[in-house]
Amino acid sequence: MPLETMKMKIQTDVPLAPLTTIKIGGRARFFMTIDNHTEVADAINFADAEGLDLFVLGGGSNVLIADEGFDGLVVHLRMRGVSVIAKDGEKVFLRAAAGVDWDAFVAFCVERHLAGIECLSGIPGKVGATPVQNVGAYGQEVSETIVKVTAFDKWEKKVVELKNDECGFGYRSSIFNTVYRDRFIILDVVFCLVENGLPKISYKDLIEFFDGSKPDLKKTREAVIEIRRRKAMVIDERDPNSRSCGSFFKNPIVTANKLEE
Ligand SMILES: Cc1cc2nc3c(=O)[nH]c(=O)nc-3n(C[C@H](O)[C@H](O)[C@H](O)COP(=O)(O)OP(=O)(O)OC[C@H]3O[C@@H](n4cnc5c(N)ncnc54)[C@H](O)[C@@H]3O)c2cc1C
Repeated sequence: MPLETMKMKIQTDVPLAPLTTIKIGGRARFFMTIDNHTEVADAINFADAEGLDLFVLGGGSNVLIADEGFDGLVVHLRMRGVSVIAKDGEKVFLRAAAGVDWDAFVAFCVERHLAGIECLSGIPGKVGATPVQNVGAYGQEVSETIVKVTAFDKWEKKVVELKNDECGFGYRSSIFNTVYRDRFIILDVVFCLVENGLPKISYKDLIEFFDGSKPDLKKTREAVIEIRRRKAMVIDERDPNSRSCGSFFKNPIVTANKLEE
């Protein structure tokens, strides 16, 4: 896109608070909504040409915007689309665009009896952010089902594909929020789910909830949402307690010896 046309797509002085779940913070000096891959490259070119920092905003559920705002370009990812790209026996491969609402994607999969992400129900945000901190809850993490991530590499200025083992997934971490923080803009994610697979009931809260009964994927999703709602961990505009940017704490991982101490 020519720079002049590009400038018409860019808004200035845009309030960011309404685009976050915690609803606080200042404005973006420049702001652009992104609807396709080409616009990502355009946005990066614009930021480079103007010497601006660039910040990627998904659903705004894991960010805290400073009161003074962001003195650069905020790109708000809205790319949509979910498609089944391959099947191999019971394995179903789905590609979901970065701007797809995560929980809508989970619901879509559960309705189609696809197992693998049912315990990740009720988590706010977009698909594109899930690899960043290897989103996890109630016994599942996205790294268990992610096959590959398509991303724009800002260093190499090209679209790249990163296989699961290249993403450096760990507990709430990946290359995207550690060694290569700010290098990649995730465009879409390919997941491999299991058709008619069983839900994963391994987390204490879920084991207690079902008390020995054998739920299906739908019941598991409903249970996760119910448990989360009790903890005000489901975003609900009517519930001021749910106005948050998620958990600040990680579960500590200690050795058996340390635990006994
Ligand atoms: C009520 C509540 C409950 C939550 N529960 C959980 C939970 O159970 N488990 C869990 O893991 N998290 C949880 N979270 C945190 C949050 O929902 C996740 O981290 C989510 O994946 C963030 O998605 P987002 O689209 O809102 O990202 P944003 O908040 O918009 O962005 C988060 C970070 O990722 C970067 N980013 C976003 N999209 C992209 C992209 N496409 N490419 C590159 N970088 C990108 C941003 O620059 C930013 O640094 C919760 C949050 C809330 C508010």
